[in-house]
Amino acid sequence: MKCMKCGADAVKGFTTDVTDLGNCLIIVRNVPCYKCEECAEVIYTGDTIRKLEAIIEQAKKALSDIAVVDYGKYAA
Ligand SMILES: [Zn+2]
Repeated sequence: MKCMKCGADAVKGFTTDVTDLGNCLIIVRNVPCYKCEECAEVIYTGDTIRKLEAIIEQAKKALSDIAVVDYGKYAA
């Protein structure tokens, strides 16, 4: 996987995704991603983006101000 910003190699890893919905902050931990070794740009695969969207939809229904979700628990 190559970085879309600088073209350097991006390596597999995990990140914490934060989505600010204005009235609610959703934090998803342990999200699989590719991280650029040069500029620290984080790249998600299409599959991960779809799962993240599903997780965020679920978290929205909880109607709390801050939701912290572990990606692994949903994606398993
Ligand atoms: Zn880069």
